[in-house]
Amino acid sequence: MSFEDLKLKRQFLRAVEDLGYTVPTPIQVQAIPRILAGQDLIGVAQTGTGKTAAYVLPLLQKAKGRQDGAPRIAILVPTKELAFQVHAAVMSFAAHTDLRALTLVGGVGPKTQIASLAEGTDIVVATPGRFMELYLKGALVLNKLHSLVLDEADRMMDMGFMPQLRDMLEVLPRKRQNLLFSATFPQRVESLADEFLLWPSRIEVAPEGTPVASVDQFMVKVPNIQTKLNLLSFWLCGKHVDSRALVFVRTKDDARKIRQALEKVLPGQVAEIHSNKAQHTRLAAMSQFRQGDVRVLVSTDVSSRGIDVPETEVVVNFTVPRMSDDYVHRIGRTGRADRSGVAYTMVDPTDEVALGRILERLPKGNRPESMSFPDQVEEAATPPWEAKTMARTIDFQRKKADPTYQGAFHEKKRKGEGNKRSKRRR
Ligand code: AMP
Repeated sequence: MSFEDLKLKRQFLRAVEDLGYTVPTPIQVQAIPRILAGQDLIGVAQTGTGKTAAYVLPLLQKAKGRQDGAPRIAILVPTKELAFQVHAAVMSFAAHTDLRALTLVGGVGPKTQIASLAEGTDIVVATPGRFMELYLKGALVLNKLHSLVLDEADRMMDMGFMPQLRDMLEVLPRKRQNLLFSATFPQRVESLADEFLLWPSRIEVAPEGTPVASVDQFMVKVPNIQTKLNLLSFWLCGKHVDSRALVFVRTKDDARKIRQALEKVLPGQVAEIHSNKAQHTRLAAMSQFRQGDVRVLVSTDVSSRGIDVPETEVVVNFTVPRMSDDYVHRIGRTGRADRSGVAYTMVDPTDEVALGRILERLPKGNRPESMSFPDQVEEAATPPWEAKTMARTIDFQRKKADPTYQGAFHEKKRKGEGNKRSKRRR
């Protein structure tokens, strides 16, 4: 099957060729003809499958060139980063057309976006909050809209965008084509699809929550943070010295500390990205990583959705994500569109519960393989403060699993607290 077989017009075949795509991916083969035929569609597909091109190409073809005035296509995404990325994809697929596209996202004042809308556009790529805000201000006119895409619908719902999506449903023209893409398809996304789509056909390119097959996954037990850093440096300065790597951490604090620690062994090669950073800083970090100016990007999950750097060869989970969907998404940052990648997950004693849950949900043939801790890497002793924090976390996890469990740790702590109080009283 070739792109010509999918009945794409010459200007889009040229764009696809410019991008170096030779054959369409499975989701493109399935989705493009259906979208061209005007069907509503649910696509259960992860990032990395080529889903963006699968919906952008046929929608652009159907738009048939520039029109003045209000947008005809709206693409809704959960995060700013993804909005910029989808916008960039739209621009490259539209390179040989005169179509115009705008990004409408929060984090910056709406003035510039309002002015750009006034000049007219064919396509908007937006986050739901800003989309509704601009509509309510009267800057975004929706009466010409005939195609709506909800991309990463599961994440949009996780991020609490349901009220904005509902409001949107009230104000969109009834007669329109709807496309919904989601990496997973839980009940709540199904309900959303029921509200938005009409007799959709559903296509699925990989079973729900399955990591991309072209990623080799490994997990390794590591006792503490310092040892994790030793192992990470060993990979990034040794085996993967020429690779672009994404390191996932849980909190923005961790992102900062780990970036600082890595800077010592890889000066000038590391950037960090998390939701607290100003938007321009985040975008700068991402584009540095994309262009290869920095080789390592340290990120929290919030930002991970927007990162599309096909050259990412290595993903390291510095900690096990607490949600199995996040695991699939994190490692989906590599092995994109049939490139191979490797994903490592470091597991410390506090990660065991989360890991168990993730393993349970992954299909048997697609779970990370256990690897032993490399001999060459120094295993640091766990400092007392870290041992204490870990013990506390594990105790908390056990208590959560079994409400009758009375942790020895808590007993001790209570006694200690009592002593302090009695001392004070004296
Ligand atoms: P997506 O799943 O849309 O996030 O796309 C993942 C990556 O695959 C992006 O870097 C695309 O540029 C790339 N891609 C999409 N379709 C193809 C294709 N047919 N051949 C090669 N690469 C592709």
